[in-house]
Amino acid sequence: MVSKVSKTCPCRITPNATVPATSNSDELAYSECCQPLHQGEKRADSSEALMRSRYSAFVMVLTDYIIKTTLPAQQALLDKPAIEAWAEQTRWAGLEIINHSPKVSKCHAQVEFKAYYYGDQLGSPKLSAHHELSTFVKIKDHKSSSKNETTGAESWYFLDPTVSMTLTQKQPCICGSGEKVKRCCGPFL
Ligand SMILES: [Zn+2]
Ligand SMILES: [Zn+2]
Repeated sequence: MVSKVSKTCPCRITPNATVPATSNSDELAYSECCQPLHQGEKRADSSEALMRSRYSAFVMVLTDYIIKTTLPAQQALLDKPAIEAWAEQTRWAGLEIINHSPKVSKCHAQVEFKAYYYGDQLGSPKLSAHHELSTFVKIKDHKSSSKNETTGAESWYFLDPTVSMTLTQKQPCICGSGEKVKRCCGPFL
């Protein structure tokens, strides 16, 4: 049998006493939460699940996962060593999902969250937070041959607003939706 010792998933830890008491589902073990996503056994079924798994990947310095879950058109533009260094050097303290808007458009969703970390202040740790509103886009998978996935499956991707891309508003959107940029991901970039 597998050991009963299960580690709480990094994304299920909130360091702040002001956060309302968590429900049981908030105390999921890593093996029942982000691990299957990190290992490619499961796809994120919502933008919130993807956001959580990306936070956990930062905590665990799974840089490839962070890159893999960013919009495919942006992946080559990401600075992998910088992401890795940032993930490694940050003393992560927990995650709080503030709000999840599963449908801000046909294929976009937004998650507002606080990612907590300890910053040094005169030698003593001080709890700080990155408060962000992240946008995710749902894309149909074109490559169905890679795994035992059913065709027509969809995956969520993080739309990174910090990646600079030269886009014209009338070109076909970088997410592959077939819409023009201005009617699709443009407003979120
Ligand atoms: Zn998790
Ligand atoms: Zn788009």
